[in-house]
Amino acid sequence: MLIKITQQSRIPLFGLDFIGVLDRGSNLIEIRPTTLCNLRCGYCYANANSGNYNNEFEVEESYLVDAFEQVARFKNIADIEAHVDPYGEALLYKDVFRLVKDLKGIKGVVKASMQSNGTLLTEDSIAKLKGAGLDQINVTINSMDPALAKKLSCRDDYNLDKLLATLNLLPERGIDVVLTPVWFFGVNDAEIEKIIVFYKGLKERFPRLNKVRLGIQNYLVYKTGRKLGKVRERDFSYFYKQLRALEKKHGTKLVLGPRDFGIHPAPVYRFTGVDAIRRNESIAVEIVSPGRQEREFIGNTDGWGVKVVNFSREYIDPAKKPVIKVPAVSFEVKGNLASVILK
Ligand code: SF4
Repeated sequence: MLIKITQQSRIPLFGLDFIGVLDRGSNLIEIRPTTLCNLRCGYCYANANSGNYNNEFEVEESYLVDAFEQVARFKNIADIEAHVDPYGEALLYKDVFRLVKDLKGIKGVVKASMQSNGTLLTEDSIAKLKGAGLDQINVTINSMDPALAKKLSCRDDYNLDKLLATLNLLPERGIDVVLTPVWFFGVNDAEIEKIIVFYKGLKERFPRLNKVRLGIQNYLVYKTGRKLGKVRERDFSYFYKQLRALEKKHGTKLVLGPRDFGIHPAPVYRFTGVDAIRRNESIAVEIVSPGRQEREFIGNTDGWGVKVVNFSREYIDPAKKPVIKVPAVSFEVKGNLASVILK
């Protein structure tokens, strides 16, 4: 089922990892408008399009923009990057162009960027994104071999040639590109080198600083994501050692950090329930929606979203409002995200 998140739904847009507005305490604010995806990558951190999940989510554009504006206002800085980065594919969000335009118009926002698998980009959508004010798009490309690209995305119709043409078109049309391949050690080692060669070719055509960049990512396994066969995740010291070796071999900078992208610490719009948890108080959570999977629900505590795991509707007294009292010790809080694991 596709659940539409509107103001009336009472589903909060802060505190949940898969939807809404995420703040990790920097000048980059993440916006997650949808959980829909057209691919089914075997390594997906978000477990998008898994078929196991009961529900997908989509947020009403005006509700999302208002939530973003609250965070931007709180930060009160002049160099905010609005980064559309769904647990899914941004181009499947029907209001994506309006969203980019509205985010770009908010006070303090100097840059609008987006994460995409790139497969749905067309001449027309690129022109519309540019018209809306998109400055940068991060595109995942994990292989220069069509067969491996199909295998990794779990899509037989994955069109690598079309994606490569799109990557040439984006900087031509005035949108900066960051290639974001994931390095699966032992699987796409040779492909990473081919992607570096492709990147250098693009860079020669578009030499202006930041027009084309390459940000290779280390493959990480997430608790709730999908795992790629027997591929092991490698620690960051190993990953950076390999990157440095490739930097030498190909004569190009590959180790990039937040500063290379203009990202710096900024006040975090944090989960307000933290104070009550510190005081070891029980917290009232209103159950407002089913979650992404069975026995998972979305709770609202004082306007903040809480993922409630192991919950069953049987716990709700039908004579009362669906409010549960959760002991502070059941909360797991990470940054401005919160979840409740009921035993
Ligand atoms: S990794 Fe990205 S493109 Fe692939 S299934 Fe997940 S959300 Fe979709």
